[in-house]
Amino acid sequence: MSTLNASLADLQSLFLRLAPVPGVSLQERLIANAIAALLKPAGITVIEDAAGTTLGGDAGNLICLPPHFDPAQPAMMLTAHLDTVESTAALTPVVHPDRITSGGDTILGGDCRLGLTVLCDLLLQSARGTAPLKNFFVLFTVAEEIGLLGAREFDASQYNISFAYVFDSSRRPGIYIKECVGLHLFDAAFHGKAAHAGVAPEEGINAIALAAAAIANVPFGRIDDDMTANIGAIRGGHATNVVPDLVTVEGEVRSFSPDRIREQMGIIERRMREGMNGVGTLSFSTRVDFEPYVLMDGMSFLTDLERALRTCGLTPNPIRYSGGSDANMYNAKGIKAVNLGTGAQKPHTKEEFFLLEDILAVAKIAYSLVEKS
Ligand SMILES: [Zn+2]
Repeated sequence: MSTLNASLADLQSLFLRLAPVPGVSLQERLIANAIAALLKPAGITVIEDAAGTTLGGDAGNLICLPPHFDPAQPAMMLTAHLDTVESTAALTPVVHPDRITSGGDTILGGDCRLGLTVLCDLLLQSARGTAPLKNFFVLFTVAEEIGLLGAREFDASQYNISFAYVFDSSRRPGIYIKECVGLHLFDAAFHGKAAHAGVAPEEGINAIALAAAAIANVPFGRIDDDMTANIGAIRGGHATNVVPDLVTVEGEVRSFSPDRIREQMGIIERRMREGMNGVGTLSFSTRVDFEPYVLMDGMSFLTDLERALRTCGLTPNPIRYSGGSDANMYNAKGIKAVNLGTGAQKPHTKEEFFLLEDILAVAKIAYSLVEKS
């Protein structure tokens, strides 16, 4: 029996209130203020950390503590992110009989304002104190869309976190990301030698030709079931009468194993050098965008999740997924975290939408996770 009650009318009006508040990455001040203005009068403690200052943004992560929160006890963390991939300032949400869309000229911001709405509603309901609840708090992060930066800056050592549920997958409710790829990036700079293309071409080393030979020697695309690789950008040369001296190439590798990503980066660099045949020079560097996570069967927080999903009439559906979320960052910090399907579909596009039945289902999942059984 649920004692927290999901109301579609409440969820809908809360979403319509929050969605048009602008908050692109590192400019989350207005949405952070809107959340604080919503929650504080209800008795929820809202703490803003220093991530804004550290990251050069105008707002920090919001840590929202319901009245019953006990810092001395282990706590469940529920999270969503404040930022949207584009501004929603000009958004005119359209409520259809079965769904909410944008007016067609902007994103809807369902990523992640749906998660934000559900967790704000959960906090407001929990502050009413009518239901016995587990120890939990909510974290709203900044700068998720530009590399999980807010989650990275969040000081988890301040809280006794057992595990985390992230409300940020575009898949339908019931689905959860049990295994998620990590993403590492590489930069390759091919250095040749400039020369006049007509007067002294033999004095030059053509960096475009170097890059072409190197790239032709490297496997890309779907490497196998567990790994993909891509070259996503190439820049170089500026005039037809100059032998170009520099070409830069950017790419990525995704896999479920950090060791395999590093191994593949080694292969890419080695094959590029082989392709160059001793001509010119290559500077090759890699960096971590986010690390993968693989959750094991039978972990208690997944068992709890599956129970909650079944309570809501959903069939638990664990999947492997190739896009990151704050869950990747929490797992990398040693906090077991899973990203849940919210049904905020077609994210980052003007066709973005969610079904009304899905926001209701996600709210029920959140309630079920925190209610004492
Ligand atoms: Zn998101």
